[in-house]
Amino acid sequence: MNNRLMGTLLTFVAVVAGLSFATPSHASAKIVTDADATEGIKTAQSFGSAADGGIATGKASLTPAAKRWQSKTITYKVSSKTSYYKSVWKSAVKVWNRSGAVHLVATSGKADITLSNSNSPMGKNDSTVGITYSSYYNNKSLNGLAVMASAKSYVFTNVANRFHYSKAERTNVAEHELGHALGLEHNVGKKSVMYYATRDQSVAKPDVNGLQHSYR
Ligand SMILES: [Zn+2]
Repeated sequence: MNNRLMGTLLTFVAVVAGLSFATPSHASAKIVTDADATEGIKTAQSFGSAADGGIATGKASLTPAAKRWQSKTITYKVSSKTSYYKSVWKSAVKVWNRSGAVHLVATSGKADITLSNSNSPMGKNDSTVGITYSSYYNNKSLNGLAVMASAKSYVFTNVANRFHYSKAERTNVAEHELGHALGLEHNVGKKSVMYYATRDQSVAKPDVNGLQHSYR
């Protein structure tokens, strides 16, 4: 999926991809790594191009997807250390579970999805406020979607601080990144948590519709 990545992110992926992924147990399958970033924004007027070049296609009423997990029951682990970010991720998980389309279950063992926060490795002046790395099998599909092998989402603490994100806004970013970790892509419309530069928007109808469509 190199055509979905641009500029500095390519370099970043090359550096991080090797560190982020354990080898999935499905030894014969080829694993492809992908990354989706969320642009941090100050105001509605400051939107630039998407940091990840992620393509937003289709109708605003249905958030598109490129991937999904094999099962609707998906395990996750929060590796954030602070109670603040544990709470941010817990809220994000709860919102997606409310869709009924997937069942996210906490595990202390090896998880499908890892949720975390860190300072941005792209430098303090970068405006990417969240990122999700995911990998998928290039020889498996369901409903026309690639089947995911692993995903790891981050909220970038220093960028969220610099742009004065509230806890609710950080939770929206967490929901966006978890949406990528569930296989969703960017929505063309702002009334979706999967708008590429989401800040004010939580999971909305188009996102629930998109997830239900993926996991039908
Ligand atoms: Zn995104």
